[in-house]
Amino acid sequence: MSGSLKLGCIADDFTGATDLANNLVRAGMRVVQTIGVPPAALDTEADAVVVALKSRTIPAAEAVAQSLEALRWLQAQGAQQIYFKYCSTFDSTPQGNIGPVTEALMDALGTDFTVATPAFPDNKRTVFKGYLFAGDVLLNESGMQNHPLTPMTDPNLMRVLQAQTRRRVGLIDHSVVARGPQAVSERIAALRAEGVAMAIVDAVSNDDLLRLGPAMAALPLLTAGSGLAIGLPANFGLAPSSTAADLPAPRGLQAVVSGSCSAATNAQVLNFIQSGRPALAIDPLRIAAGVDVCAEALAWAQPHLASGPVLIYSTAEPRDVKAIQGQLGVEQAGAMVERTIADIARGLVARGVQQLVVAGGETSGACVQALGIAQMRIGPQIDPGVPWCHALPDAALPAPGGLHITLKSGNFGTPDFFTKAFRSLVTASPA
Ligand code: ADP
Repeated sequence: MSGSLKLGCIADDFTGATDLANNLVRAGMRVVQTIGVPPAALDTEADAVVVALKSRTIPAAEAVAQSLEALRWLQAQGAQQIYFKYCSTFDSTPQGNIGPVTEALMDALGTDFTVATPAFPDNKRTVFKGYLFAGDVLLNESGMQNHPLTPMTDPNLMRVLQAQTRRRVGLIDHSVVARGPQAVSERIAALRAEGVAMAIVDAVSNDDLLRLGPAMAALPLLTAGSGLAIGLPANFGLAPSSTAADLPAPRGLQAVVSGSCSAATNAQVLNFIQSGRPALAIDPLRIAAGVDVCAEALAWAQPHLASGPVLIYSTAEPRDVKAIQGQLGVEQAGAMVERTIADIARGLVARGVQQLVVAGGETSGACVQALGIAQMRIGPQIDPGVPWCHALPDAALPAPGGLHITLKSGNFGTPDFFTKAFRSLVTASPA
């Protein structure tokens, strides 16, 4: 059913893909997110598909190869325009991968010009004069300069992108964006005539992004964070509508698994416990000692499941996490806990859970893989950046009726997220 596919998106990480999908749904598109490049054709109606890759920090050549494979699949589904989605903090390694992937997509699409803007004002990421701000400070003062994998030490996006590409990088600055789509289109024509191939675009508000929308319609390729998406569905005649977020009615049992140790998640775990619902902490040291923590957790959960959501968590305060990491090693502790939580998630679904909240970005990746999820339809937003999704029934998924799942990255969500999520699913469902 590829006839209706308007926007084909390639996202360089997993929760970022969901963030983009969420913005597209809110602007009126029906969206499916796939985990990696699907082996077969899309078999459901969608206005946009977001192919979620894990290509942000892998070697540039591999990121290019995976992105091109995603492009070919999206083209085969009939995608009319391509959107390469990266992080709103423009996370890059010294080799890329934003520049090399953009170049390769431009070559494959036969286009000589594209834009680049990570602006996402809803999340306090703004671009002015080509400089990226996170909150009130420049990118390189925001903490991102200390990121373990992609330290961002230069807030000037023209310099950052120019270092990653042989093509010329230019700027569409705010004075142009403020004058509206016609001015932006004229500026694009002028930059093109000068031989500029990629333009950083300023945007400091959603109004700027909405003004940019019409000027983006003629470009075969867009590259951006998730913000630029809010102005695109209108180019295809789509307006925000509640039906874009329709998911099948929820059924089955409810559970939360959490492997996130972020501040927001710690507050959410505490809130859930204080609400009197059943919660079980799992201890990484017992996993390391060879105890079958997964079997224990599933046995604990079984009698509680019939009466409402249960929570199983490894979430801990920073000093406890440090202590565990000191004993087990950072990566080993992380991988061990992720695997255990993913096994627990699979066991819960096999025991009838069909509404699952997962907290933690890496934890989400592990759970989605363990559950064998290949595609998800994106539904209503619970909190900014976090929608309910519905994993379509699939041979590998141990839930024949499909699974409602939400993937909450660490610092998203209000303190009552773990109980609110289930209430909001009931409210949002079509009668
Ligand atoms: P967030 O989105 O909050 O960053 P992630 O799931 O991406 O959450 O990352 C949390 C990491 O911490 C995962 O690798 C997880 O396995 C690990 N982890 C979870 N609980 C503990 C713990 N108690 N001690 C040590 N590591 C933990």
